[in-house]
Amino acid sequence: ATPVAILVGTGRGAERGILITGPEALDRAGDVDTILLDKTGTLTTGRMSVTRVTVADGVDAAHAVGIAAALERGSEHPIARAIVEAADASGSAAGGARANGFRAHAGLGVDGVVDGVATAAGRPGFLTELGFLMPTGLARRAADSDDTIVAVGWAGEVRAVIEVGDTVRDGAREAIERLRSLGLRPALVTGDAERPAARVAAQLGIDEVHAGVSPEGKLEIVRAAQSRGHRVAMVGDGVNDAAALAAADLGIAMGGGTDAAASASDLALTRDEPGAIADAVSLARATLRTIR
Ligand code: ADP
Ligand code: MG
Repeated sequence: ATPVAILVGTGRGAERGILITGPEALDRAGDVDTILLDKTGTLTTGRMSVTRVTVADGVDAAHAVGIAAALERGSEHPIARAIVEAADASGSAAGGARANGFRAHAGLGVDGVVDGVATAAGRPGFLTELGFLMPTGLARRAADSDDTIVAVGWAGEVRAVIEVGDTVRDGAREAIERLRSLGLRPALVTGDAERPAARVAAQLGIDEVHAGVSPEGKLEIVRAAQSRGHRVAMVGDGVNDAAALAAADLGIAMGGGTDAAASASDLALTRDEPGAIADAVSLARATLRTIR
């Protein structure tokens, strides 16, 4: 885009809460035909809350939530906030503890040492990969839920399954319809499991769903669509979206998201409303037209 067009676009964007951080992308925005949307924090509010806790024999639920919270206090993820809030509300002593050697694994979960014991919280598959045994009762509960599952394990076994629920943002369904009428094919890409992903997609009228996708997986989905000749927009809010946002022809960071997402993107929304996504695509196209 020419400097004048960028200036015009910048002014118009700022009025609507859209910051143009990567003006080069505007050259490609007109041709964008595919839009990949992250779920948690992008199409959903990301304000999650604990809906149910299932424990292994002999484990106290409040204690298990407290152990998980000791790890999650180190994480910025919306799931982490929900678990810390639940622990604080229950007043469990364990919830006051803090983990040593804490590590966050984008799109997977967290691990560290709580009260001298190796502990982890996150996707069931992440815990089993770390070597935690999954009791069948908890595995069954995890498979049956439409909410997001956080397995909590310590001392070699998964000892609780915490379910965390999230709600679709107001205006998300209308925003998807607007994107379609702009000629974009929407697809949901999420690190979350099949069932919660399918529930949100159905609520929004999105047919194409990629669930259980790692941060690198999101990047690969962008590249695969590009190699089939598509121009791809990607919308996300998290550290886990950064690689895909950077690789997309048009990367759009949701308002209220992480700095990692914003700096990997071409457009950053200052509002966290889904309607702003369609505004951003329209603006990018309008800016392009003033150049041609
Ligand atoms: P999305 O792609 O929908 O934004 P993420 O990639 O951030 O989701 O996370 C994918 C999955 O990884 C989550 O649904 C959750 O199961 C797990 N996960 C990620 N971060 C955490 C965390 N801090 N605590 C527990 N689980 C986590
Ligand atoms: Mg997200």
